[in-house]
Amino acid sequence: MVAEKGKENHQASDQHDVLKSTQTVIHLALDKLGYSEEVYELLKEPIRMLTVKIPVRMDDGKVKVFTGYRAQHNDAVGPTKGGIRFHPNVSEKEVKALSIWMSLKCGIVDLPYGGGKGGIICDPRDMSFRELERLSRGYVRAISQIVGPSKDIPAPDVFTNSQIMAWMMDEYSRIDEYNSPGFITGKPLVLGGSHGRETATAKGVTICIHEAAKKKGIKLEGARVVVQGFGNAGSFLAKFMHDAGAKVIGISDAYGGLHDENGLDIDYLLDRRDSFGTVTKLFNNTISNEELLELDCDILVPAAIENQITDKNAHNIRASIVVEAANGPTTLDATKILTERGILLVPDVLASSGGVTVSYFEWVQNNQGYYWTEEEVEEKLEKILVSSFNNVYETSQTRRVDMRLAAYMVGVRKMAEACRFRGWI
Ligand code: NAD
Repeated sequence: MVAEKGKENHQASDQHDVLKSTQTVIHLALDKLGYSEEVYELLKEPIRMLTVKIPVRMDDGKVKVFTGYRAQHNDAVGPTKGGIRFHPNVSEKEVKALSIWMSLKCGIVDLPYGGGKGGIICDPRDMSFRELERLSRGYVRAISQIVGPSKDIPAPDVFTNSQIMAWMMDEYSRIDEYNSPGFITGKPLVLGGSHGRETATAKGVTICIHEAAKKKGIKLEGARVVVQGFGNAGSFLAKFMHDAGAKVIGISDAYGGLHDENGLDIDYLLDRRDSFGTVTKLFNNTISNEELLELDCDILVPAAIENQITDKNAHNIRASIVVEAANGPTTLDATKILTERGILLVPDVLASSGGVTVSYFEWVQNNQGYYWTEEEVEEKLEKILVSSFNNVYETSQTRRVDMRLAAYMVGVRKMAEACRFRGWI
């Protein structure tokens, strides 16, 4: 009995271990595609993982030593690409999992990249502007040997922004002794950033919602939408849904949720939220994040953090479509439950691939020195995401697998083929 219980606990914790769950689905995807065990051995972990110590002189004159990581999952297709996260919970395991997800995203939208990811254990909310600058520059010096415009191209992620990308680009340009805008994406427009980068993830999620709604026969006009998380991804998404005529009846942040059956005033909330995506603190009549996820709605978009929909609440989800704007919000058990209940789940590696797609556009524009208008960027993004969504959907229908496994099958195939052609496996 005790042993059984231990086993259950172990399985439950595996479900919440984002690296383990990603490896489980990659294994299944490679199996379905007929690849051998060696291919899984190569792809289950990053090919390169660097841990660095970054000494930073703080404003009080003392030196604080930060720990940072850079993971490069696989560079058979091309240079690796992926964001840098500044967060107290950054861990080696999380950075590894995120780099694998980046590879899958690049495969799904067919970009000439493999996945990479970086992170620093820090809390930018407690740091001054100049401390953040010194940390950003120190990180670039520490990882400079393994990154570069044709090696590994970083980008923003949780709690990093265009200002941080600008410092990093400047630091790399000094080391490289060239102006190197293609070293990093998510830069300010004046430094070679791309139109549409800031809203790209939310735009991509919006395109996926449009396609998913068509499959489910739901009209967006008047559809009831709930969005968990009101940061970069969630807030722009709520705005795009509102502009498309949908009724955003629920939003939340780390401190709670707001619910109004008649639709929330998204423009007002956008105006009042702070730069960390917090707005609910201003209100008294909040609901919990748990209650928010179980609201009766047509479309539910988890756009905050991992492991929000689990075997504990998947039976209570009342949406017809769940679109994962966040990375890893649904466990594998919950994916099974939602799929069996006929809920259309659009997995993270597909739904949130708009960001890396426009990052790719930025890098292409930097390389060619010729810049596109916002309309051109949006048109190109739409074309890529509509075709990627339908490719994954068709794979799920024809191979009779859930949408997550279908997305992994599409995402991993090009990488596995590239490894084979290079003679690595
Ligand atoms: P962000 O930091 O701008 O916003 C995060 C939001 O989630 C905030 O509103 C915060 O209050 C809320 N939040 C934090 N902890 C929470 C909790 N315990 N419960 C409920 N809400 C909580 O981050 P973001 O850039 O919007 O990213 C959100 C998710 O989307 C992450 O999983 C990220 O990896 C993923 N994502 C973002 C992008 C992008 O371009 N921004 C691209 C791909 C994936």
